[in-house]
Amino acid sequence: MEIDSPELALPPGPIALARAAHVPSAAEPPLDCPLCPRLAAYRDDNAARQPGWWNAPVPGFGDPDAWLAIAGLAPGVQGANRTGRPFTGDWAGLLLFQTLEKFGLSSGVYAGKLDDGLSLHGAFITNAVRCVPPQNKPEPAEIKTCRSFHAARLAALPNLKVIITLGSIAHQSTIKALGGKLPKYPFGHNAVHRLPGGMIIIDAYHCSRLNTNTGRLTPDMFEAVFATALSLKA
Ligand code: SF4
Repeated sequence: MEIDSPELALPPGPIALARAAHVPSAAEPPLDCPLCPRLAAYRDDNAARQPGWWNAPVPGFGDPDAWLAIAGLAPGVQGANRTGRPFTGDWAGLLLFQTLEKFGLSSGVYAGKLDDGLSLHGAFITNAVRCVPPQNKPEPAEIKTCRSFHAARLAALPNLKVIITLGSIAHQSTIKALGGKLPKYPFGHNAVHRLPGGMIIIDAYHCSRLNTNTGRLTPDMFEAVFATALSLKA
């Protein structure tokens, strides 16, 4: 059989397959979501530079029956924006996936890519903002616009009891997504907040390279947050 071009001979990779299988919903925006023009333009710029990357809103990942959600801020450009899975492929994912494994919330071996076979059990990871922002800084209007997806994502987890929010912006957006009033729930590492609807929110410093390299967040401190979550599961 004659092959017209080398590309035709290659099977689609995991990112292409996942993109083709993506089903938009209230909880998961379409891959070409236009609602934040600045972020949509940044996605397009990244796609032009790195066409093999995900370069789209990053869907949540994990167990649909999760009792625990972990809410980050937004994809990193060379992490989730590259691989298509939250916290996958960059520094922040190392401590997070290591901790999930330690607490029995994952199986398989984390290898920083979409097709590493990792599974979560009882846990789900998502981001308050689904598209990568320039300099890791979403604008307030972008956080607000994406909150409808964040709220729907959390609402679509029927067994959810506890949410660990990573960093103050994820904390604030998650409180608002659940209908809470911010001044009542000040951010603090390992602080526990009980919302009127019954949801429990626990704050953690973000597991970013900056926080872990400076010692603002140590593995012990991060694990303490997950221990708190497990103690409140019942
Ligand atoms: S951040 Fe959210 S609302 Fe904004 S373009 Fe991306 S998916 Fe759409």
